[in-house]
Amino acid sequence: MAAPQRAVFLDRDGTLLDETGYLADPGELKLLDGIAAALRRLRQGSFFLCVVTNQSGIARGLFDEADLDRIHRRMQEKLAAAGVSLDAILHCPHHPDHGSQPLRKRCLCRKPAPGMLLEAASRFGLDLPNSWSIGDSGRDLEASRRAGVSGRILVLTGKGKATLKELSAAELEATHVVPNLATAVETILTADTFDGEGLRST
Ligand SMILES: [Mg+2]
Ligand SMILES: [Zn+2]
Repeated sequence: MAAPQRAVFLDRDGTLLDETGYLADPGELKLLDGIAAALRRLRQGSFFLCVVTNQSGIARGLFDEADLDRIHRRMQEKLAAAGVSLDAILHCPHHPDHGSQPLRKRCLCRKPAPGMLLEAASRFGLDLPNSWSIGDSGRDLEASRRAGVSGRILVLTGKGKATLKELSAAELEATHVVPNLATAVETILTADTFDGEGLRST
């Protein structure tokens, strides 16, 4: 059996894409500046790249699974044109208070619950303690903490600046805060280099 692979869990809106509220139209999809280049850099670290995204717009009836599929295909096409791809995209379509059954429910996948990360780990054989997460909200940080992901990064794109003001001292201590995805990737690759040197010297 192959050794578990390290992953980087990526939030979508406000982290990879411009935060536009409930994105329902693939034509309005906009990658944030520098995203493709940053993901290409991350590829050099041989991480499994996994998007985990809350999409309660489905429960709310603002768009459906087919629309979301089109949006994610468009996102992959744009990234492919820039020479990079994502390994998996998991989404939560639920909301506890909006829509009707079965989409209206208190699920285990909507962040801050860790369900999507745990599902990805079991489906793709991922090494959670040695993985990273990057997101712009407290929900991203909490979901990855509850999933046992050690490296947690808050980007200040999207809702990141507002999130930063709400973090407790303990959360702040456990979180790398960086301006954007490009610097998040540098943080990960730099930490990796130090780990490697530590191993070689012992
Ligand atoms: Mg977000
Ligand atoms: Zn869910």
